[in-house]
Order: sequence, then C-alpha cells, then structure tokens
Amino acid sequence: MIELRKIYDRLYKQYGPQGWWPAESKFEMMIGAILVQNTNWTNVEKALANLKLHLEPKALGKLSNDTLAKLIIPSGYYNIKARRIKSFLEWFQTYNYDIDKIKKIDRNRLRQELLNINGIGPETADVMLLYAFDKAIFVVDAYARRIFNRLGYDMPKSYDGFRQKVELELPCDLKLYNEFHALIVEHAKVQCRKKPLCGTCPLLDICAQRIESSAKG
Ligand code: SF4
Repeated sequence: MIELRKIYDRLYKQYGPQGWWPAESKFEMMIGAILVQNTNWTNVEKALANLKLHLEPKALGKLSNDTLAKLIIPSGYYNIKARRIKSFLEWFQTYNYDIDKIKKIDRNRLRQELLNINGIGPETADVMLLYAFDKAIFVVDAYARRIFNRLGYDMPKSYDGFRQKVELELPCDLKLYNEFHALIVEHAKVQCRKKPLCGTCPLLDICAQRIESSAKG
C-alpha cells in the first residue's frame, strides 16, 4: 500500500500551497460551508456576494428566513439552507460568536456539537473544524473517495471509517490536513477528473488506476 504521506508530498510538490479556505473571515468560511452543500463554488460565490452586507453573525441573525432565503437563491435549496444557517447561528450565539472560545473545545466534543445542529453533516462539520476552528481532521468528500479508489486503496464505505483510516496513518498536523483536503480537490479538478488525465499525473507510477470501478461508483 502506498504511503499517504507520499501522496500528499507529491500533490504538494505539484500544486503548491493552496491557502484554503477561500474566505475573508472564519465566519464567512462557515456560512460558505453550509451554502456549498449540493452545489458548486461558483454558485456559492454568487450567494455570498448577495450576503456581503450581512456577513456578520448578528446582522445575519436579524434577517428573516424569507429574506435570507432570497439572498442565497444562487446556492440552490435556499429555503433549507436558510433554516440551516439560522440553526447554526443559534448554536454559534451560545458561544457569543466567539471563535477563539470555541477553538478551546476538545475536537471530538466540538464535532459532536456541530453534528447536533440541524443540517450539519460530517463533511460540513469537518470543514468547519479544520478551516474555522483549527482542528486537525481529514475531510472525506467525493473527490477523496474517487482518488483513493483509483490509487488502489480499499477504503471503508462509512464516512467516519474512511476518515479514521486516513487519520491513523498521518501525523496530527493541522497544516497537513488543511493542505491535503485542498490538494485533493485541486487534483480531482485538474487531473483526476471523471475522465482522468493520467499521462501527466504526479501519481501515475504509484496509481492502480481503478478507473472503471470508480466511474461506476
Ligand atoms: S494516475 Fe490517473 S487515476 Fe491515478 S491519480 Fe493520477 S489522474 Fe487519477
């Protein structure tokens, strides 16, 4: 089995530091994490542009659900996402919107709190943990599943099984996890696409290229 660290090092060498998450504040990052559910980043950017004057917890909380939903129409599922943002804000308010205070909470306890919020699933919780609350955690998404499968890893189907298997192999290093998720997304967009461009891939010599099975899965 190929060492995960080797995968990371090669992707880092190829694409360089990614500087994620693309947001002007931790709060914007967390709202973006909810908006990006079931859509692409271009649509999120349009919704965030509409929210620009309200991208602060108290200001966003003052908006009615209907007004908020209208502003985030470009992100799709806007009524559901407006309710999710409001649920998230209710939780955030219990900490006086203090990100530094929340950062002091143990990773697993904080993860459970986020998962208890309506509409926050494991992927959304984990990107918030990683990019807003500085917790070293591996984010499992469709890109990671595609790339790991093609490389030849037999990964657990469950979200947490996949995540824990990766975390067992890697050091608890915030920067590494921060970059690794972003590099996986970049690699999936640039080379390991649905129809991959294997010829120029930095992982070509160590890849099992299980492309047919990944296309079905
Ligand atoms: S060699 Fe092809 S299938 Fe394997 S990681 Fe690279 S682009 Fe993906």
